[in-house]
This record gives sequence, C-alpha cells and structure tokens, in this order.
Amino acid sequence: MAHSGSALSDIVGDSRFLDSSSISGRATSYWNSAPMQAKALVLPGTSEEVAGILRHCNASGQPVITHGGLTNCVNAVEPGLDDIVLSTEKMIGILEIDKIGGTAIVEAGTVLQTVQESVAKEGMCFPLDLGARGSCTIGGNIATNAGGINVLRYGMMRNLVLGLEAVMADGTVMSSMNRMLKNNAGYDMKQIFIGSEGTLGVVTRAVLRLFPKPASRQDALVAMNSIEDVIQFLGKLQRELAGNLSAFEIMWGAYYRAVTGENGHRPPLSRDYPFYVVFQAEGSDPQVDDARFERVLGDALEEELIADAVIPKSATETRSIWEIRENFEPALVKPPFYLYDVSLPIRDMAAYVATVEENVSKRWRNGMCIALGHMADGNLHFFIAPGEDGDYHAESDACVYEPLREYGGSVSAEHGIGLEKIGWLPHSKSSAEIQLMRLLKQNLDPNNILNPGRVLGI
Ligand SMILES: Cc1cc2nc3c(=O)[nH]c(=O)nc-3n(C[C@H](O)[C@H](O)[C@H](O)COP(=O)(O)OP(=O)(O)OC[C@H]3O[C@@H](n4cnc5c(N)ncnc54)[C@H](O)[C@@H]3O)c2cc1C
Repeated sequence: MAHSGSALSDIVGDSRFLDSSSISGRATSYWNSAPMQAKALVLPGTSEEVAGILRHCNASGQPVITHGGLTNCVNAVEPGLDDIVLSTEKMIGILEIDKIGGTAIVEAGTVLQTVQESVAKEGMCFPLDLGARGSCTIGGNIATNAGGINVLRYGMMRNLVLGLEAVMADGTVMSSMNRMLKNNAGYDMKQIFIGSEGTLGVVTRAVLRLFPKPASRQDALVAMNSIEDVIQFLGKLQRELAGNLSAFEIMWGAYYRAVTGENGHRPPLSRDYPFYVVFQAEGSDPQVDDARFERVLGDALEEELIADAVIPKSATETRSIWEIRENFEPALVKPPFYLYDVSLPIRDMAAYVATVEENVSKRWRNGMCIALGHMADGNLHFFIAPGEDGDYHAESDACVYEPLREYGGSVSAEHGIGLEKIGWLPHSKSSAEIQLMRLLKQNLDPNNILNPGRVLGI
C-alpha cells in the first residue's frame, strides 16, 4: 500500500497536502471528537485533481476515504492509520442557477445550507432539509441519498439530483450532468453513485432540482393521545391541506420529556402527552393557506383528534418548536448512546416501538429508549442508552433490528450502512441484491481503494 506523498502534493499543491503530523487538530467526525488519524489528507479543488489523486492511489492500491461534512451517523468516515483522506472542502461553489429550468449546478463540497440560502435569494427552493444542514455537503448528501424532513413532499436526494459528475477509482471522470427531468437514453448512471456511500466513486459536482420558493409557510406543534389519532391526523392533513403538507414529524412522549424541561428546551405544550407531532405546510397564497391551516387544526381539536396545539407567531417561535425535534442533545445525558434509523409500514409502528421498548427495558434496568421520526415516510429513529458503562452496541442492535424482520422493515431508512450496519445488511437486502452490489463494487473498483470495508464489508 505504498503511495508517494510528493506525487500527491504535486497534484494538489503543498498547501493542500497535509501529512499525518499536520491533521491531528481535526476532529474525526461530528460524533467523534478524537483527533483524526490517517496517513495524509488531500484537499483537491477540481475534478481533474480528484482524478489525479485516484489514478495515483489506484496504481499503488492505496485506500482513500472520502470526507464531506462528516455528519453521517453510521461510522462511515473514520480513517485507518494507513488511509489517505480526500476531503471535498475546497470544492465549493454554486456554478449556475437556472430559474427557468429549475436547476442549480453545485460543487460537491458545498454545504447544504449554503445551497438552500443561495437559491432562496433567487426565489427558488432546494427542498432537502435536515438537522445537519449547516455542516453536511451536497456530495455527502448524494453519497448517502439523504432524506430529512421534506421527503414526504419532495422525495429523497435520489429524486432531487438530475445529473452528476463522479470520478471513478481509476481516475475516469464520469460526467452525467443531465439537466432534464426526462432522459431515458439508456441506463441512468447517476443512480449508481447516489446512496453508494463513496464506495463506487467520488462525486465532484451535481445538477440539483429546484422548485419555486413557497410564498407561505405554516407550522404547528400538537399533542396527541394515541398513535391511531396521529395516523388519522396525518391522513386529514394530506387530504385537507391541498397538497401543501411538507413535513410531519412524530415524537413519542418519552422523547419530548427527555429533550424539554429543566436542562432542555422550553416545553410549549404540557409534557404529559404520549405523542407529539411537529409539522409544516408550504403554499403559494399566504392568506388562503393560513386560513385553511387554522381551520383544519381547529377541526382536529374539535374532533378531539389532537389534544392541544401551538401555532408559532414568529420566526423565533417557529425555530423553537423545530429545535425540540432537531436538537436532541438534552436527551443524551449519560453515554453510551446508540442511534437508529429504521423504516417500516406506518400501520406497524406502534406495535414495533412497543416491542423495542420492552426489549430495552428487559435488558437494562435503567435503559432509555426514545423514539421519534419522519413518520409519513415510514422512518423512525431511536436513541438507546443502556444507562451503564460498557459497549452494548451489538445487544442494542439486536433489540432494534430483530423485531424489524417481522414487518419487512429496513435497517436503514436514510443514514446508510457505513461500517456500523454491515452485519445487518442481509436483514434488509436479498442475497441476489447483495451479490449484484458486490459485482458492481468489484468491477468499478477492482483494487478496492474507495472507502474499503464500508457497506459490503469488503
Ligand atoms: C444533527 C444531525 C441530523 C441529521 N439528520 C438527518 C436526516 O434527517 N436525514 C438524513 O438522511 N441524514 C441525517 N443526518 C445524517 C447526515 O447529515 C447525512 O448522512 C448527510 O447526508 C451526510 O453528509 P456529509 O457531507 O456530512 O457526509 P459525510 O459524513 O462526510 O460522508 C458520508 C458518506 O458519504 C461519503 N462521501 C462524502 N462526500 C462524498 C463525495 N463527494 N463523493 C462520494 N462519497 C462521498 C463519505 O465517504 C461517507 O461514506 C443527520 C446528521 C446529524 C448530525
């Protein structure tokens, strides 16, 4: 696994090649503040430089770990001592916004929030949105097929990327910068790279799909007494908000109580309810949309579908109800914690969550199991904390994943597999699918230099 540092610094320039002694000031990832350890870090600025780096590393069988914003939740970016890290942090910028075609061409290292804000200035909207918006990058979003809170209306990254450019292991630049919604000229090559977690190529730029910026927005936080009410309420909003519902996030009462109160967020609603939902609608006519939203909410209160509600009256109040859902730090009191990201049919969620809660409470006397998620997408998150020192990851995984099989669910709704869930991949993919994935990997990256070990464990 030899590589020549001088060859890499020749490609990117001395200031963008950092050897092992110069990178220890960097944290390993969002979740792991330990100093990064790797053979070297390279910071290419162009696709040609990425191509040069990969060509060189491929020739010497040198593993390369690609870094975006480092916010992934599946232990995907932690390098080994012998790895070269390729960070996209110098590949930033919005190259073009086409308001007529509804597209933006963006460099892979551009932070999601920068894209959202830049297109908003042009009256457009890029609807991917998630709690890590201020750090995660478009390349990372593509590599993980990110989801987030607006999937219900706009789909995941797979639906929001019209074209992309990726550099393959041998340095070939695969350009597929399609700008059209329709293009059936042969296989859709971009989809191979979306959700491939950097194992098949390094994404360098993309054509993103934009929408007109909504002229109105309504948000609310409601408390509810049963999951049946939550499901009925979701249906009511989908039917009666004229297609404007763009986010619908469920929080089990235990989650709400864990993140609000003395050391957490201010609770806008009493902390005694079994379920809470924060949701959002976006439309084109503020007056009509506001009135409709308030009427539907009023009806739901009258029908006793919801027990209590708060409609924020300012941007600050809106932010604070979303903080309850997005900023879960107050719940994370005593490590270790394990985070999950599963999907299953909505109708089975109540029974499934009850089983996981029971598994956790049987195993750990002081265990914490709190659930929340993008319910309308069939996607739930759990935070599990055994409440005892030690490494209980494998046991915690079994509590969550074993009962999932019965419902035909997936061990990853949106975070991916990384190094963390490799052993559970066969829970959610057939052996024929895994075989085809291996075939792709072995053919596109025969020397196994791109994010080795991730996803397939090879
Ligand atoms: C507070 C918080 C909230 C979150 N909420 C959500 C959510 O709602 N929905 C959701 O889907 N995720 C969520 N995440 C997870 C995370 O933000 C996403 O997975 C995100 O898409 C990762 O982007 P990144 O730039 O940080 O990628 P990184 O973490 O740097 O990398 C992720 C993977 O992509 C690869 N990669 C990165 N850039 C490239 C590239 N240019 N080419 C090829 N491979 C690349 C890496 O090697 C790695 O395998 C959340 C994370 C946090 C911390």
